[in-house]
Amino acid sequence: MYDLFFALCTMDIPRGHPAYMAMLYSYCPAAAGWWAGGLVVSAENLPYNAAWQVLSDYASGADLSTQLERYGLSAKAIAPIKTYIDTIADIRSREPYERAPELQHHANIVKMEAGLRFGIQNVFREHFGGDWRNAFEYARLWIYVLMDWGRDMCGKGKKEFTLERKDILFQLKGTRIPVPFPVFVWNTHSAGSNQPNIGLLAEGAIHNQFRSMLALMSAPEGDHTWESEPRVFALDPITGASRQFEPVVESGLLLQDFLELGRAAGEGPFPPIAAYTDPARCAACVFKFQCYGPGRALSGQARGMIAPKRR
Ligand code: SF4
Repeated sequence: MYDLFFALCTMDIPRGHPAYMAMLYSYCPAAAGWWAGGLVVSAENLPYNAAWQVLSDYASGADLSTQLERYGLSAKAIAPIKTYIDTIADIRSREPYERAPELQHHANIVKMEAGLRFGIQNVFREHFGGDWRNAFEYARLWIYVLMDWGRDMCGKGKKEFTLERKDILFQLKGTRIPVPFPVFVWNTHSAGSNQPNIGLLAEGAIHNQFRSMLALMSAPEGDHTWESEPRVFALDPITGASRQFEPVVESGLLLQDFLELGRAAGEGPFPPIAAYTDPARCAACVFKFQCYGPGRALSGQARGMIAPKRR
């Protein structure tokens, strides 16, 4: 949940807010524990996320070539990325029923000569997470995956959409002030009305039920209400799959569970569950240094969050 970490690192979120505590706890209890314990995280702690970067840049109105140039890539360095884009078009035309068929050819089609990469390592370090291959992924997401999402959300015949980066507001019963949350909204216009579609990045297009419910019940910041009720989608940043939100239980019950989780999350304990069950989450987590330090083994401090009194 990059958006959740992005908010913690860049927005003024009241520490311990039950909405954020419950979302963090559902990601990994230890993440909620670190945050509630006063740990300060900043934009430097954010791991690289190509999909978020693409969405932000696209929503700013840039086009791909201009944006790559802005990042410091020369025309010569952009040329193999353009070839890659054309190759994907060719693959997709040959395999029209596969989702992201280019992924099966990845090892053979992501190519940039070492000579071209020489001298621009700082560009890759500063803008592409330190790996030149990410510049190719950035372009694939921009040209193909973003459009796959748009088509799925906005309908096959309605490719036209505008993309907006917005802060939405979560207002919870029992909390005085609403809290903001960063999202991307695809707007489609037809018959004089605007349909907002809130897209949330999610591996495998699997909804975090709480985050999606809050998005559905949100209000746009600065306005009072949505023009029409938003739809909420989980967007897989790898395959371009998307899935519209359907609550696992009736919305009122889901909200009740969420509020209770928020209260329980404030008390702990805060076990580092993800480290034991889904280490990929740790790789994307802003608290990974606290849990692992500079090494690869889980720290005693993180393990101590399972049963603080025992240690
Ligand atoms: S690094 Fe892993 S175990 Fe630690 S808080 Fe993050 S997700 Fe949880």
